[in-house]
Amino acid sequence: MDSSTQVKKQVGATVTHGASGYLTIDLAALARNYERLAAEVAPARAAAVVKADAYGLGADRVATKLYAHGCRHFFVAQFKEALHLRPLLAADAMIYVLNGLQPGNEATCAQEGIVPVINSLEQWQQWARAAHAVHHALPAVLQFDTGMSRLGVPPEERAALADLVRAENGIGVLFIMSHLACADDADSNQNGGQLAEMSRIGAEFPRLPVCFANSGGIFLGKPYHGVIARPGIALYGGPPTACRANPMEPVVRLDVAVVQTRIVPGGTRVGYGGAHVTTSETRLATIAAGYADGLPRSLSDRGAVYCDDIRLPIVGRVSMDSITIDISALPEGRFKLGSLVEVLGPNQTLEDVARDAGTICYEILTSLGHRYERQYR
Ligand SMILES: *Cc1c(COP(=O)(O)O)cnc(C)c1O
Repeated sequence: MDSSTQVKKQVGATVTHGASGYLTIDLAALARNYERLAAEVAPARAAAVVKADAYGLGADRVATKLYAHGCRHFFVAQFKEALHLRPLLAADAMIYVLNGLQPGNEATCAQEGIVPVINSLEQWQQWARAAHAVHHALPAVLQFDTGMSRLGVPPEERAALADLVRAENGIGVLFIMSHLACADDADSNQNGGQLAEMSRIGAEFPRLPVCFANSGGIFLGKPYHGVIARPGIALYGGPPTACRANPMEPVVRLDVAVVQTRIVPGGTRVGYGGAHVTTSETRLATIAAGYADGLPRSLSDRGAVYCDDIRLPIVGRVSMDSITIDISALPEGRFKLGSLVEVLGPNQTLEDVARDAGTICYEILTSLGHRYERQYR
């Protein structure tokens, strides 16, 4: 097959080698989103949050692409994620573990140059012991709880920690950080409250750079930027701020294969539980993805997919490996075995699917799973 036939096959939107679906990740759009965010926070730097396999899109591909576009700070949630990334990135790339230091990981972190985010006095002491054991100073980031009650040094431990930081104990603090609970809601007064608390912490831990904003925080304005921002969802095309136009470019496209079509008379039950009953003669198609592929069961009888810009509603319950759609709006014979429908793309954004599923874009992205054929553009 020459290359022009190959291109035609893609455009014809039919499965070319037996995949049940294609998850297409546009790395150029990812890089443009990174540059957009970096420009927004300049002269502060933009890090990249690549936890949970870069929100499901592939941490190795995402991190190496962003490194090539100037990103030098990478946040993961867990130690194992850091260990996976470390050999893929040059030594000048910093990798931080947001969930902190877990007992047993100290030696590997020290050896591999993985930087733990210190979330408690106990973790500080553990890391100080590790520094003592290796006979050289070790880097750390200090995270403070400014109102989320999730991770970070609580207010009552701050004074004791400030004493330890002054005494040094072989730890070089790179910066201090905290996380906003309501950054996607520009009107929430919790944002200002957390910012004020962060500036009190800055006074208690003087001369240390500040890292504060996630995607939403970046769009709350300059006071939130600190010296390093930590966007995640916005890199991947998700909206940084709810109830406002999304300034980011979509990065993900998902097309799923049709595996069967049928015509049923009115009064026919569709899917598990017979939960959907057709009201008139209906043309149905079954597509090869279900809740095991990250299309939540809550899309049952609610969501839709698209073909030729036509909305094809999901009928009946979402199964583990398949979904049934109503294709009556399409011309007869439009679908052949292996035809593709658009689940995420120009007709249906991540926000649309998240809304129909009653969840957030983060959960849709991180659930997409590994049964689709992944294509990186
Ligand atoms: C996940 C996370 C981020 C990124 O948040 P987004 O809303 O995806 O930009 C930043 N900081 C911390 C501490 C996080 O847990």
